[in-house]
Amino acid sequence: MSVVRIEHVCKDYLLGEQKVQALRDINLSFDPGVFLAIAGPSGSGKTTLLNLIGCIDTPSSGKIYINDQDVSGRTPDQLADLRARTIGFIFQTFNLLPVLSAAENVEYPLLHRKDVSPKERQKRVAYFLDIVGLSRYAEHRPNQLSGGQRQRVAIARALAIRPSIVLADEPTANLDHKTGEEILLLMKKINRAFKTTFIFSTHDKRVIAKADRLVRVEDGAVSLLGVRSHSKWSLARHRPVEKSVEGENNAVQG
Ligand code: ADP
Ligand code: MG
Repeated sequence: MSVVRIEHVCKDYLLGEQKVQALRDINLSFDPGVFLAIAGPSGSGKTTLLNLIGCIDTPSSGKIYINDQDVSGRTPDQLADLRARTIGFIFQTFNLLPVLSAAENVEYPLLHRKDVSPKERQKRVAYFLDIVGLSRYAEHRPNQLSGGQRQRVAIARALAIRPSIVLADEPTANLDHKTGEEILLLMKKINRAFKTTFIFSTHDKRVIAKADRLVRVEDGAVSLLGVRSHSKWSLARHRPVEKSVEGENNAVQG
């Protein structure tokens, strides 16, 4: 089973009269438990791809399967329930609610879940704040926390629903290098401990180097696939023919 399967996906945006081809014939399949980076320059289609996987947008054509369930023919509204149970989101700008404490931010996605009791909610909030090392900051508001701490709250919030997939759109882009690295290591620790699939976008080579799977997008198309074992990357050009280009790992050094 794949956690995410993407078949011949295209996404066009209309910008006035003009059609923007944000994604062109994407074909990808990810195994459960991967720690995967979507890399590529600004405007290459990373956010669009994450939004499609996260069911907050729909493809113009092609199919997307999440845990073998076809989500491509349905509207984001129809997929709200699947999102609330399956997909955790982490954003570049953290997107915490400023009037809520850290604990309340983590609790927030559970408030509308009828199957999660108030007691279970409190248990999860305490548990995941502990996982991200913020138990002592439970009552702090976002503006009383550093950038790295805010992103830790966002990670705990993403995990609170016990998602099978966490999607993170440039999670380290607003953090200094050292803090970004700590956030990446925390995500990786959680990936290993809970077998949660992590898919994150980045254009930072140092962040890419922490992944163990790599998809590079350029101009809306997949240009390179990478698999890392230990510290060695095997890279395969995605187009026009799949050809091993081992040794050509300039895309991931930093
Ligand atoms: P990235 O995240 O890699 O920077 P995006 O997925 O945001 O790239 O954008 C891919 C392309 O689609 C860009 O050319 C961008 O301008 C365009 N695009 C993204 N969102 C929209 C939108 N809502 N309307 C029109 N064009 C868009
Ligand atoms: Mg983006």
